[in-house]
Amino acid sequence: MSTRRRKASGGVAYPDARGTLRERTVQALADGTLRGNLETAAASWGESRDAMRRDHGLDAMRDRARDIRRRNIRELPALLSEMQAKVREAGGTVVRAQDGAEAARYVTGLARARGVTVVAKSKSMATEEIKLNESLTDAGIEVVETDLGEWILQLAGERPSHIIAPAVHLNRGQVATLFREEAGTDDVPDDREGLVAHARVRLREKFAQAGMGVSGVNLGVASTGTVCIVENEGNARLVTSQPRIHVAVMGMERVVADWDEAAHILQVLPMAAIGQDAANYVNLITGPRREGEADGPEEFHLVIVDGGRGALRGTEFEEALSCIRCGACLYSCPMWKSVGGQAYGSPYSGPIGAVITPLLEGPASPTSRDLPFMSSLCGACGEACPVGIPLQDLLVRARARASSPATRRSAIVFRAWSRLWRRPTTYRAWMAGWRLMLRARGKGGWVTRLPGPGAGWTQVRDMPSRWPPRP
Ligand code: SF4
Repeated sequence: MSTRRRKASGGVAYPDARGTLRERTVQALADGTLRGNLETAAASWGESRDAMRRDHGLDAMRDRARDIRRRNIRELPALLSEMQAKVREAGGTVVRAQDGAEAARYVTGLARARGVTVVAKSKSMATEEIKLNESLTDAGIEVVETDLGEWILQLAGERPSHIIAPAVHLNRGQVATLFREEAGTDDVPDDREGLVAHARVRLREKFAQAGMGVSGVNLGVASTGTVCIVENEGNARLVTSQPRIHVAVMGMERVVADWDEAAHILQVLPMAAIGQDAANYVNLITGPRREGEADGPEEFHLVIVDGGRGALRGTEFEEALSCIRCGACLYSCPMWKSVGGQAYGSPYSGPIGAVITPLLEGPASPTSRDLPFMSSLCGACGEACPVGIPLQDLLVRARARASSPATRRSAIVFRAWSRLWRRPTTYRAWMAGWRLMLRARGKGGWVTRLPGPGAGWTQVRDMPSRWPPRP
């Protein structure tokens, strides 16, 4: 099953990380199908999540979730040592990778050493981050995504649009077209149940061939060395039990102390992520198959990735490490709802992606430097976050960190502007001139195109020619 490069959404190509952030954003904004798909998905999530707030006390669970995650991050070195020791006690292997390249090299080397030709994967943002598929494919190993959304993206040759729902930007018709092309037949239904059944049949064939299963980790429980994998489809259960080797790739911050903490986070996660009071499947894996057991993998490897996370502890960005990757901040963000995750050009998108991607990639990264500016700073993300991460504050701090010569020039201009506005005489003169200019340009109370520096503003919105604007 090869990875093909094509576009499934609309007629507009907004390629993975190609082009600048601005180019990708403008292209995405021009895709009406994409925006429709995103709005539908976000509205549906909003209704379900509101029900969790109303009927299941999601908001009241936030304080405890925040305290747990803050403490986890403060005690991270000790928790990781405990986790490591417990996994080894249970017969597993633990590898600490400093960066994504080291992690991908380890998994690829292991697959080669064991003669693995097919790897079955379940959904994992960590493996996206370390570019594992590329590494395995370059080594001549076939990779099969078994999560429905990830498989759709593999067929489309696209990146995930959302942390939890990677193919949320595509509608049923677009998915049916992809499946028909992959199967080489028009005999694929386009209703939801039919599409799921079709994918199940195609993917089950691959499970039998896979010598290695690779998963992500939602939580690691230090007291027992258990990895928790939350899912709704049941494919992760097969990935972690059917092949003879299971590799779990975990960001180093995903560890909690014990089952009391894990139970709370595992309750909060599906409520915030998909508006359900429980996930369909919670897989708990402690080491490989024991002697006398009939099933499960013969080998279990836990790869713990630092990838820049360790350096964030003790900084003004430490709170970002509390993230449980629920995706609620994406669905609540007006920016993400307008352009989708692919415009960000990084595995993590939305407000949390705009904060952590530049931090993990480093301030000099030309691909992520501008991401903190992908926000209206409306605060909806911070309000939605079930572990109380002040995302809007982190975005402002990330903007200050990303300050380039161009943004420094803007800061000088805005400082001069603010001085002018503080004097009543210059303020009145400025406003009078501005009103005249806008009235001259406005039609029906709105200006649709401004010249010079105002052009960017009116590219995607109109400006009222009077204040207050006409209804
Ligand atoms: S920052 Fe908060 S809302 Fe966003 S993905 Fe992480 S936990 Fe969820």
